[in-house]
Amino acid sequence: MMSLLCDDTVYMNRCIELALKGGGTVSPNPMVGSVIVCDGVIIGEGFHERYGAPHAEVNAIASVADQELLRRSTLYVNLEPCSHFGKTPPCSDLIIEKGIPRVVVGCRDPFVSVAGKGIAKLLGAGIAVTEGVLEAACVKLNEAFIKSHTTGLPFVSLKLAETLDGKIATSLGASKWITGEAARMEVHRLRARYDAVVVGEATVRCDDAELTVRHCSGRNPLRVVLDRRLSLPVESKIFNTEAPTILFASSAWEGLEKAGLLRERGVTVLFVREHAGELDLRQVLEELHKHGILSILVEGGSRLSASFIRERLVDKIYMFIAPKLFGGDALSSFAPLGISIPDDAVVLKFETPRFFGSDLLLEAYVQSL
Ligand SMILES: [Zn+2]
Repeated sequence: MMSLLCDDTVYMNRCIELALKGGGTVSPNPMVGSVIVCDGVIIGEGFHERYGAPHAEVNAIASVADQELLRRSTLYVNLEPCSHFGKTPPCSDLIIEKGIPRVVVGCRDPFVSVAGKGIAKLLGAGIAVTEGVLEAACVKLNEAFIKSHTTGLPFVSLKLAETLDGKIATSLGASKWITGEAARMEVHRLRARYDAVVVGEATVRCDDAELTVRHCSGRNPLRVVLDRRLSLPVESKIFNTEAPTILFASSAWEGLEKAGLLRERGVTVLFVREHAGELDLRQVLEELHKHGILSILVEGGSRLSASFIRERLVDKIYMFIAPKLFGGDALSSFAPLGISIPDDAVVLKFETPRFFGSDLLLEAYVQSL
């Protein structure tokens, strides 16, 4: 029994490894990998390669040379097999049709038309189902997909690059560069894994940032600009045609001619409510969800980062820390959060730190807000 459990973990790890190969190309679908094992030997593997393409289980089953072996094999998959007709027929039907006697599932699918129904279908056909193998890792793998389907909001990550004393720009506002090349390369890889990159008007104005994926392979994420008063020049690099762009402005400025000029350039201009001089970030996220965006990486300055934190909308922070000091007159990573007693602090949970050159990357999940 022990060895069976250990083997299940090993094969589920392989599913996760395979699933990750679809990172950046399968969204808004989840990342899924599948392994088929017969008599302790992997006889088939597959993963979901891109949105609209066959599911992982279909690819894994198709990769098995002797289909007769399926009748005494175990199929491993990190996410519950689907039971509904989407872009492809249901995987649970295919598993039943092929006579696979055992299925091991990492975690359930939160998608409302699947949620437990795939597993119920397999059980109903007399298939032995083991659930929850490496469940935490499988949930984390598809954290954006799961959050988006359970809350109707995208998964929100903040990315910041700061000095050891928590500063993101000098007293004169200069920020190029705080971190080294290796850390900046990692930012490009991060962007390729998110559906959208979000910046505020101030960052665009300061850096004339383009926010595309360079220096590594990967698709360009959607660019999202928060420009409450529609004040950015139409010629800004962020409005080029390298990647699609959505601009959010306050509905108070809806009549401006500039919206039309931006739309002519291919920019999608959307208007949302504003409160106390700031865009309603929840409404921004709801709109992005409607546009099929599962995950966003906020690359704003201290004000935008603080606004997302204050509105309790952040799931995760990527903090690149350079071994440098800027001192007390420099700009802090976060604008005031209004916290006066330690018990009110925003609490996070660190992941294992990683080095990029001489810089440190700390990933942290927001625990309680
Ligand atoms: Zn499927």
